[in-house]
Amino acid sequence: LWITLEGGDGSGKTTQARLLHEWLEGTGRTVVRTREPGGTEVGVLIRDIVLHHRGDIAPRAEALLYAADRAHHVETLVRPALARGEVVIQDRYLDSSVAYQGAGRVLDATEVRGLSLWAADGALPDVTVLLDLDPATARARLDAADKPFDRLESEKDEFHARVRAAFLALAAEEPERFLVLDASRPVEDLAAAIRARIQPLL
Ligand code: C5P
Ligand code: MG
Repeated sequence: LWITLEGGDGSGKTTQARLLHEWLEGTGRTVVRTREPGGTEVGVLIRDIVLHHRGDIAPRAEALLYAADRAHHVETLVRPALARGEVVIQDRYLDSSVAYQGAGRVLDATEVRGLSLWAADGALPDVTVLLDLDPATARARLDAADKPFDRLESEKDEFHARVRAAFLALAAEEPERFLVLDASRPVEDLAAAIRARIQPLL
């Protein structure tokens, strides 16, 4: 069982991944919690490049680096865990690439999706939880927690609005894969909604 969490910065993906992990372990499942970019040793190096060079990296190069991280991550970590019958909970996957590298910047979203699917050899998660939140609320949340809203502060509000719209469009295209939740709801409500979606799949 492969579950991915998507949504903008500050939407609560990491918190929900942790709560889901605790619950699944309580049901006796073996869980691998991971993320993109940076879910492997090689991925940590790639994450370092993409996050520290945002804004000064050619868009196609950036998209290829995310795809390289994904290819290595899926082949060496995700697929083997799934083959062992484990549950993989993953913070961000290819929908983030379509939303950020595609809609967010200058690249064509369909091409970015095609690149990602090629990198992952077509692998798609069983369930994708989209934590939908308006960027102003996300920013306020992260400010309150004294965390940076974005690794690149110069990203404009319109950028985050485009990313959000892209995630929602992806969810509308694949309603059977996506669970879209209003991330302004209380943390426990959201966790319960996620558990309700996963429970029948166990
Ligand atoms: O959620 P996480 O901390 O891993 O994301 C790191 C940063 O990388 C975020 O600010 C996100 O906007 C960006 N990102 C991106 N394209 C992706 C994945 C993440 O621009 N495919
Ligand atoms: Mg996070």
